[in-house]
Amino acid sequence: MAQLPRDFIQRVLDSTDIVSLIDSHVSLQKRGKDHWALCPFCDDGSKPSFSVSQHKQFYYCFKCRASGNAISFLTDHQGQTFMDALEFLATNAGIEIPKNSNSINNEDFKIFDKINDLAVKFFQKNLSEQSESSSVYKYLKSRNIEGKSSQNFSLGYATKSWDDLCKYLLKEGISREDILKTGLIKTSDKGKDYDFFRNRLMFPIRNRRGQVIGFGGRGIENEEPKYLNSAESLVFKKNRELYGLYESIEQNRNINKILVVEGYTDVIALFAGGFPYAMATLGIATSKYHLENILKITNEVVFCFDGDQAGSDAARRAVEVTLPFINDNRKFNILFLPEGQDPASIIEEHGTNKFEEYLSKSVVLSKYIQDSFLAGNDDSIETKANAMRSFQNFIKSIPPSNFKTLLIEDFSSKLGFKVEEEIQPSIKKKSFTIKENETFIESTILKKILAVVLDFPGRINLDLFSYFDVKSQIKEEETIAKIIEFCKSAPNYNAGQLIEEYPELKGDITSIAAGENIVSEAKANEYIEESINFYLKKENISNHVYLQKKLMDGDITEKEKIELKKSLLEKFEALDDQEKELLKSL
Ligand SMILES: [Zn+2]
Repeated sequence: MAQLPRDFIQRVLDSTDIVSLIDSHVSLQKRGKDHWALCPFCDDGSKPSFSVSQHKQFYYCFKCRASGNAISFLTDHQGQTFMDALEFLATNAGIEIPKNSNSINNEDFKIFDKINDLAVKFFQKNLSEQSESSSVYKYLKSRNIEGKSSQNFSLGYATKSWDDLCKYLLKEGISREDILKTGLIKTSDKGKDYDFFRNRLMFPIRNRRGQVIGFGGRGIENEEPKYLNSAESLVFKKNRELYGLYESIEQNRNINKILVVEGYTDVIALFAGGFPYAMATLGIATSKYHLENILKITNEVVFCFDGDQAGSDAARRAVEVTLPFINDNRKFNILFLPEGQDPASIIEEHGTNKFEEYLSKSVVLSKYIQDSFLAGNDDSIETKANAMRSFQNFIKSIPPSNFKTLLIEDFSSKLGFKVEEEIQPSIKKKSFTIKENETFIESTILKKILAVVLDFPGRINLDLFSYFDVKSQIKEEETIAKIIEFCKSAPNYNAGQLIEEYPELKGDITSIAAGENIVSEAKANEYIEESINFYLKKENISNHVYLQKKLMDGDITEKEKIELKKSLLEKFEALDDQEKELLKSL
């Protein structure tokens, strides 16, 4: 098997949603925070034991302990090879696997990240310094975009110059070939390089991890086209990315719903107006990839459209794309704004309350669908029969669900029809040999700590783990240290990714992550801190070494200071001079 870089595999897992994946093979029901089904790996009778966590991106059976991530579901349940599974998921996620997989070079991704980061800084600097950016300021002001919003979204300005950015990047030591790959510069017919974005307000577009992958640029004077996006590249796929997705995740731990809007400025205006869960497709129709990304975060989506014909057409297309994603847990609404208005203009002119008012009037998907097939119907049987046929055709791609059954029943009764219930296909079980799960982490307290780390990715102060060392003689401590290292390198880590990184810990990680939340997010760091202290004490680890380190680092609490003093006093006889000095200072 060709060796694939770990970053590549993690990227694929990061872009995959295990719930949609498994749901397409085993019908899942949401219960509490997880999704459940009868286990496809064992016979668990009539009580579902198989849980799938969207948040942590892994599955776990409480009966047979089958567990894993998206890749292992495809290998263990579908019998695919690792490479086949990875290729399937990568293709689905729009991540290219070069023919010769040895040639996927992590450096390629890194150089994109570096160039895009430099470009963001460059554009930001232009915005704050260039005198010619005054027209940009005028525009920002006209759209009520203030300094804070501008900073939150790292807005910038591409000057009128033909090659400012190009010169800057070359000066920063980036090769011309690499800059060309990102599409930030183009070459003219005469062989001269020029900046792709000129005299434009720049909106950096970030992926879920927060890395800038491309830009949207809005013309300031009469540039054509008015909006211009980065060209497609290794890291930038226009029909998959959502402007505002990263910023939404950043601002909210739990996103209840997502507003899908049309423009960059709509997203920014909505954030500033108290709706920090708005996202925009990049000037194109909503795609299935957009929806996959959105539904990884929430089960409730409101699509906002202009009330004109174009908006109505866009709504229809968005609904068509949505149909295959419908299940009984999800809720989709459609919001038509008055003709010629967008969320930003409503907030600008009438304030956020007005937008809220419109939002409360959005229609549920079922009503939207029914209305669009009932509109203009007369009472004749011919018209009703025709409406029924179009309706049936339209909803074909909705998966079997209560929603579908009820929608058909309700629509039929409105037309005076009676329709037989659809029968859900039965799910075939696959035989699977249960492997004994080895356990590496014995300590209950360490397991609990790890459970909290997995519950709140991005919210845990990983510095609390400074005691744990990858070179520790104690196997369990080494394991925890390694896991924390990984979490540091991937701030949006989840259990599914950890399993891929440490297959030997699969049993541990999945059984730990499958448990109920131990503490609330607000108490998570406090819980970890106390638990680590408890662990150190219980393990009889002279925790004054640890506390001394915290004292040096300046992050010792008053309570710990007292503890340190006590522990030093207890062994006063054995203290060296330095420790005695330290004791005095406490
Ligand atoms: Zn099972």
